[in-house]
Amino acid sequence: MISYEIPDPFDTFVANKYKDYKGMLYDFFAKEWHLKAACCGEDLYAPNKKTMIKIRLYHTRNECMGGY
Ligand SMILES: [Zn+2]
Repeated sequence: MISYEIPDPFDTFVANKYKDYKGMLYDFFAKEWHLKAACCGEDLYAPNKKTMIKIRLYHTRNECMGGY
């Protein structure tokens, strides 16, 4: 038997909408954004998405790539 996986249009929409924030989760209890860094698995926290992106960039460049 062959079965076909038909992607749900809503799931696809959500996945595309949030693809830039992959792995970024909002902690409702701490009121912070949480991200596990892709480079080393370190936990990063930020009060908002904009700050998180800066922290992630800084972390990747300065802490995991030696300042490039
Ligand atoms: Zn890292």
